[in-house]
This record gives sequence, C-alpha cells and structure tokens, in this order.
Amino acid sequence: MGEFELIARHFARPVRRAVLGVGDDCALLSLSPGQQLATSTDLLVEGRHFLSTVDPQRLGHKALAVNLSDLAACGARPLAFTLSLALPQADEQWLAGFARGLFALADAHGCELVGGDTTRGPLAINISIFGELPAGQALLRSGARPGDDVYVSGCLGDARLALEVFRGTANVPGEAFERVRLAMECPQPRVALGLALRGVASSAIDLSDGLLGDFGHVLQRSGCGACLEVDAVPRSAELAAQPLALQRLCTLAGGDDYELLFTAAPAQRQAVAQASRAAGVAVSRIGRIEPEPGLRLVDAQGQPVPNVWTSFDHFRS
Ligand code: ADP
Ligand code: MG
Repeated sequence: MGEFELIARHFARPVRRAVLGVGDDCALLSLSPGQQLATSTDLLVEGRHFLSTVDPQRLGHKALAVNLSDLAACGARPLAFTLSLALPQADEQWLAGFARGLFALADAHGCELVGGDTTRGPLAINISIFGELPAGQALLRSGARPGDDVYVSGCLGDARLALEVFRGTANVPGEAFERVRLAMECPQPRVALGLALRGVASSAIDLSDGLLGDFGHVLQRSGCGACLEVDAVPRSAELAAQPLALQRLCTLAGGDDYELLFTAAPAQRQAVAQASRAAGVAVSRIGRIEPEPGLRLVDAQGQPVPNVWTSFDHFRS
C-alpha cells in the first residue's frame, strides 16, 4: 500500500462543513461572521506519551481528545483538524483501528479531518485543531481574580493511578483496573462544559501535566495566588481506596487528566451549577483565588500541607 492509497483508504472522508478537505494543497474553512479562529496542536510520541502496546483504537481517540480538550479550555466550538503521522510501516489493522477511534470521537463533536501529512518514521502523531468562538469571548488562563472560586470538572488522578499499576507500584483489582485504564487511554474532552462556561468562568485551563503545575500557569498569568484544599479534589472510588499519599500524588501531580480547571466569581455559583448540569459533567469547588502570589495547600481542617510534588516537564525529568 502506497502513501496515497493509505490516505485515501483510511483518512480521506468527504467534508460536510469545511469548504475543502483532504486532497488539495490546502484545506479551506470558513468561519461564521463575528467568530474568531481558535487553534491548538499536540504531538504524541511513542514511548513518551503512550505505550507501544496500547490499543490503536484508543490511541486514535486520545490523539484527538487531547486537542479537543484544548479547545474546551478556551470555550471554543470544534470545527476541523489536520493529522500528521509518522509510521514505521503501513499496518492495515493498526490503521483501521486508529481511524475508527479517531473518527468516532470526531463525529461525536462534529469535527472533521481536512488534511495532514504522512511519512515513514518512528511512530508519532500530530494533530492540529481548529475551532471557533465569538470574538473576545475566549476563556483564558489570565482571567482569575482574588476572591474567585476554583473548580475542577470530573475526577482527577485515575490516569496516573493506571500508570502506577503498569509500573507495578500500585495495585487495583481486575474490573476496577479496566475503569482506571480507560481514564488514561480514553479521556473525555469537556467540550460541552467549556462552551457552557463562556461568560461564566473568569479563567480556565485543561489539566494535562498535573493540577499543581497547570494551576500554577493560571496563577502566574493572572498575577495572583490561591489556597487549595487538597483533599477536596474529586477522585474515583478506585483511587479513594488507595493510601492517602498516593491519592494526593495522583490527584495533585498526576497528569493526563484532561479535565477543566476554572475560576469564577462567587456570584456565578448558580451559573456554574447550571453549566455543569447542561454539560452533564460534575464540577467541584476546591479552593479560592487570593491576592498574595503563590499556591497554599491545606487539608480539610485548614492545616497547611507541604507541597512535595513536582508536575511533569519533558526537559526536567
Ligand atoms: P503535500 O505534498 O501538499 O504535502 P501530500 O501529498 O502530503 O500533500 O498529501 C496529499 C493530501 O492528503 C493533502 O490534501 C493532505 O492534506 C492529505 N493528507 C496527507 N496525509 C494525511 C493524513 N494522515 N490524514 C488526512 N489527510 C492527509
Ligand atoms: Mg505531504
């Protein structure tokens, strides 16, 4: 199978919304009047971001999910994406599985594949994604203000727990492990929540490198600090059954959660609850923005918890 046959067989699908999709030198997209283009890109490299043994269908899902999650964090509506693949060989079965997972998630979000690049090489996957939002309404990292509540969606830490199980440093029995593993391999991007939070949240970020590090980016860009109640961070029953130190490691520094962390003024509490219901995603209040720089961690009794965790950094670890 040649390069063009591979593209035609697995990735060239007719577009519905874009003006022009796969097959020419450029794809063409048009935005609705008054909308801004939101764009983001993510590179996944075998051995760094995923294990070589992962189910290709789940990998197809995750490659797009991490990009949709970036649009969600900005409150953008997904439109289209491009896919660049470096493949060691043209493995029919692998490609079919990968495309199945990719397009299932793409279709669920009305986001279409409009182009890409395909080359031989060590397995790597790059997706660039395009979305739209009303001009000036993007949710940014820089908007948190002293007094704002701090929220996260869903549960944190399951992806890290799955990794610890793979490493042999944690134990989760059979069926429960399948659920935890699904969190790592098939994250659900919170697109509907991001859309519902436009005009409600003051800032937002999606959690990819661990809560403490990612929240730190919000605080830095917003020029303020925060107090965070560490044990109020929501976690699954599977994680809650683990020792407290591991629970805190996974929820605070885990990474790969792809939940949204956002801030909103206390006057918006009802609007936040409404957004959560509309999106069908639970949100939990875990702290408060303060004027003094820095992140202060406390337990349920308000006692300080020393920050002993480091979040993920490709060039530090
Ligand atoms: P170019 O030479 O202009 O880079 P290519 O020959 O690489 O174009 O690709 C031919 C067409 O197929 C282009 O429209 C490109 O966007 C598309 N394409 C290539 N690889 C992929 C892929 N993995 N998924 C979707 N479209 C792809
Ligand atoms: Mg090319």
